[in-house]
Amino acid sequence: MRIPLIVGNWKMNTTPSGAKTLVRELVRLLQGVMNLEVAVAPPFTSLEAVGEVIGRGTLRLAAQDLHWEDRGPFTGAISHSMLEALGCVHVLVGHSERRIYFGETDHLVNRKIHAALRGGLQPILCVGEEEDEREAGRYREVLVRQIDRGLEEVSPGFANRLTLAYEPVWAIGTGRAATVEDAVDASRMIRHQLERLLGEKPASQVRILYGGSVSPANAPGFASQPEVDGVLVGGASLKAADFAAIVRAGW
Ligand code: PEP
Repeated sequence: MRIPLIVGNWKMNTTPSGAKTLVRELVRLLQGVMNLEVAVAPPFTSLEAVGEVIGRGTLRLAAQDLHWEDRGPFTGAISHSMLEALGCVHVLVGHSERRIYFGETDHLVNRKIHAALRGGLQPILCVGEEEDEREAGRYREVLVRQIDRGLEEVSPGFANRLTLAYEPVWAIGTGRAATVEDAVDASRMIRHQLERLLGEKPASQVRILYGGSVSPANAPGFASQPEVDGVLVGGASLKAADFAAIVRAGW
C-alpha cells in the first residue's frame, strides 16, 4: 500500500529565522495528522534551522536539489551526504525550474537520481510537459522520454524509495492547475511506463504525485483519486494554514 505524500517546495524563499517561524506554525497546525507523510523542502540555507524545529517528529525534511557527484571541486554544489547529515529524507530532482533556468538535461537528472539512491535519500523525480508540447499533442511522448532517461539504469530494487511528480510546466505558479481528469490520466500513463521499466510489482510501490497550482480549494479533488498519491505544492506551501488545509484534504 502506498502512503500518501504531501511535499511543500519553498523554492528560493525564507531566511533561516523566517523558515523556523513558518515550520513552527506548520507543526502546530499538523498535530494529529496520521496515515500520511508530509515533507517540506526549504532552501539549503534553512535546512538546518527547519531540521532543529521538526526533530524526529512526523514532518520530514526534503531538499530542493543535489549534485550528481559525491564530493569534489564543484563550487556552490551540495552533495547527497551533506543533505543526509542534515536529516533530509527526500530530495527533488529535475524540477522544471532546474531544467529551464539551470539547463538540467535528462542525463544530469539521471545522474542526480543515482546520487540520491547511492546515498540514503528518496528522490522525487519531477516530470511534465510545456504548454506548447501539450498543444502539439506531444505530452505523452515528453513524459515517456523524461521517465525513461531520468530512470535509466535504476534497479527495480530501488522502487520503494522512488517518487514521481507529474508537474505540467504550464500549471506551475500560474494558478491554472491541471484538471483532476488530466492528473489521473498522467498518473496512469506514468504508472504504465514505470511497469515497463521496472516491472509490475516494483512499479506499484512508486508514489505518483501531482504538482502545479495546488490550493486548499482544489486539493480535495486530487485527494479523492486513488491514482494520485499526493501533491507537490509550491506557492501555497509558504502559507502554513493553506499547506495544512491541503494536508487535511482527505488523503
Ligand atoms: C512547484 O514548484 O513544484 C509547484 C507545484 O509550484 P506551485 O504550487 O506554486 O504551482
